Amino acid sequence: VNQQLACDLIVSNAAELCLVPPGGNSLGVVAGGTVACLNGRVIWAGPHAHAKGSLAPLPGCVTVDAGGQVVTPGLVDPHTHLPSYGVRAREFELKLRGAGYLEILAAGGGILSTVATMSAASDATLRGAARGDLDFMLGQGVTTVEAKSGYGLTADAELRLLRLAAEAGSDHPVTVVPTFLGAHAIPPTFKGKPDAYVEVILEDMLPAVSRQGIAQFCDVFCEPGVFSVEQSRRILQEGERLGLRAKLHADELAAGGGAELAAEVGAVSADHLLFASPTGLAAMAAAGTVAVILPVTVLALLGGEVGVEHCRRQVAQMRDAGVQIAIGTDYNPGTAPCRSMQLAMSLASRVFGLSSAETILAATTHAAAALGLVGKVGSLVPGSAADLVIWEAASHEEIPYRLGENQAAHVYKAGRLVKGRMTT
Ligand SMILES: [Zn+2]
Repeated sequence: VNQQLACDLIVSNAAELCLVPPGGNSLGVVAGGTVACLNGRVIWAGPHAHAKGSLAPLPGCVTVDAGGQVVTPGLVDPHTHLPSYGVRAREFELKLRGAGYLEILAAGGGILSTVATMSAASDATLRGAARGDLDFMLGQGVTTVEAKSGYGLTADAELRLLRLAAEAGSDHPVTVVPTFLGAHAIPPTFKGKPDAYVEVILEDMLPAVSRQGIAQFCDVFCEPGVFSVEQSRRILQEGERLGLRAKLHADELAAGGGAELAAEVGAVSADHLLFASPTGLAAMAAAGTVAVILPVTVLALLGGEVGVEHCRRQVAQMRDAGVQIAIGTDYNPGTAPCRSMQLAMSLASRVFGLSSAETILAATTHAAAALGLVGKVGSLVPGSAADLVIWEAASHEEIPYRLGENQAAHVYKAGRLVKGRMTT
């Protein structure tokens, strides 16, 4: 009986092959590891010495020698505000000079300034910007990206942004996972009438988003003074009823019961969580809600209570609670004009104290879990997508260790080389 597996791509003899078993807490490092793929999926992974007897390369099979290099699953960025457009460097400068929130608003800054910029930009401009962003992310080793609307704030504008994100991703190697975030801010027309805006989300936006099948998740910016826990609950429950799984911007600036709400509604993830309570984190662990930390955004919030010790204490509480930790860039023109998952990972280790293994898990299988894609992406086990990165690194620790460099040498999406020179 011939038990050899047919394959069309073999990445062989990696110094460290990180299998990252789905949903686990181990990288599953195989020294001298080989991974074999067929039709865009992994079919075999194990020690190089066992590969020869196990694999039957098809004619034209591509064989890549990863000798001396680390191989991981393609990275997953589980939190971006793509499409984002418009530069807020002037606001950045004002903040550096110590300007307060109101002064920045008066100077035309903040989320609403991006809403205005994006509403004035053409479809082609926004689509082109989003494609450029996806190109950059892919070059960094990111093969799956979540993309939130939220710079529209009317039914038509939100649907437009979701459509543009889908169009940008439709002919691009990066998989785009769309999230509806109509509850990102209160638009100026509803100033002082947040409940009226919530009704618009419930009665106009969510039904239209659901009807068009244009988003997989529904997210809310739940924070005292923005959307309350009660308002967020109504939106997330209605989203769930319409087939959109819940996500939540929670407890970013203050402890507001966001983590508790995320667990209560069975959210797939709760994000930010700088002030999440231990009870909220424990409830999230019990509900299987992933904690997404956003280290780049934290740099914009440094000062006062928020410092390295605070961030490390939050992570210690997450570990104690047993909640899965993921990392995202939070790419947006305000607090995180950063498309680099590698930088977010380096900061997660330095600011939040994540170990190298925790950091890579947080950017692969746990990030996949934050998108309901565990096992499908973010792992290199039989059945997972053949999305993988060959790193200019001899050990996995070297990935978060360096910062400000792009170490993704070769990137494969669904078994196809999408970045790097072929080395056979
Ligand atoms: Zn965000």
